[in-house]
Amino acid sequence: MGDASVLTATELEERLLRFTRERLAEREVADAITVDTLLFEDRVIDSLKVLELIAFLQSALGRKIPDAQIVLANFRSIATIARVFTNGEPIAIKRVRRGPAIGGRGKREEGRAGTNGKREIQRLGANAAPLGARLQSGVSEMLARRELEVTPDGGLIMRGSAASLRDYFDSTVYGWALELGATEETFPAEIPLATLGRAGFTTAFPEKLVFTGTPGDESARPPAVCYHHYPCVSDSTLEGGESIVTAIGRCYRNEHDPNSVHPEERLAAFTMREIIAVGDVALVEKLRNELMVRVRLWLNELSLRGHIEIASDPFFTNESRGRMLMQQMLPLKYELRLRVDADGRSVAAASFNNHQQHFGRAFSILLPSGEHAHSGCVAFGWERWVIAFVNQHGPDEESWPDVVRSKNVANV
Ligand SMILES: [Zn+2]
Repeated sequence: MGDASVLTATELEERLLRFTRERLAEREVADAITVDTLLFEDRVIDSLKVLELIAFLQSALGRKIPDAQIVLANFRSIATIARVFTNGEPIAIKRVRRGPAIGGRGKREEGRAGTNGKREIQRLGANAAPLGARLQSGVSEMLARRELEVTPDGGLIMRGSAASLRDYFDSTVYGWALELGATEETFPAEIPLATLGRAGFTTAFPEKLVFTGTPGDESARPPAVCYHHYPCVSDSTLEGGESIVTAIGRCYRNEHDPNSVHPEERLAAFTMREIIAVGDVALVEKLRNELMVRVRLWLNELSLRGHIEIASDPFFTNESRGRMLMQQMLPLKYELRLRVDADGRSVAAASFNNHQQHFGRAFSILLPSGEHAHSGCVAFGWERWVIAFVNQHGPDEESWPDVVRSKNVANV
């Protein structure tokens, strides 16, 4: 055990640097590592090495580091670790939740505050007026006017200004997709069970599947748009090494509760716009980051309150401790949550997903290098955008931000 009382940041830095170069880093890059090297982002550390690093750090400090403090903000580089754990204030998070499906519709009860037990990374719409008095029951009003209507099978019909709003949202993101080099795809209303099986969905979330109702049918309703895309590039080498597509589609998940106080917030059938990237790791992260930046700016423009937070990755069902900690360090899924009520209730309205090589392996998609392709998708659920927007800005177009009204006129 080291003597924690006398260990300075500089001493800890030196010890960590030596340990990292000698024990953790690949031989070829060891000498190039400095105290400022990004340990996780530059992939010096993997899921086994993270455990060694933590063990070494604990031994040097002479105390245990709680899991809650094992987050990227405290571990970005050796300099960060040394500063934070000797004389700084380590950032602590509560354990991230588990088990939501791709596309951002988790199991969590929507009736309570949205940030409980989660890591919230950025509040959005900070320039908007105070919400307390302003968050209205816009949705109730629109339901009464039948501009919104919940169907018995858990869909949401949008008419009039609600429909224009949805079209404005979608045309904006569709425009982004084209700017980012996406080609548009149109996918069928059903998806083969074999495809969902290959994707791992039928094993992970069998209870969420919505079937077509035709006896003996070997297909189901798609739970997300991107499952349609992987078979299009499966069992082959990806031409040009990358593929970016966008598509809008009806998606279905068996999660609707008609007796809920807010049945419109958790639908069984909804409209999803996805932008999907298949390629190398850099392509996937570039697309995801670019879209997160655009969404942040857009929310400010729309004066929409929400936040982006880290959600857990649905594929780590039997995660080892090392993988769990890596997931905490390098999030695979961010979720945009939009406020729907003054009490802090929010709905997941978009997700920014890095699937790593999950689908590349499952669908045998190879890069020209021979490596399995990485993939990622960014998914927007338009019903929830409409609901949050209408609750925050009211049911009447006159009180909506100009940017929406002018776009409406231009688009309709
Ligand atoms: Zn997706």
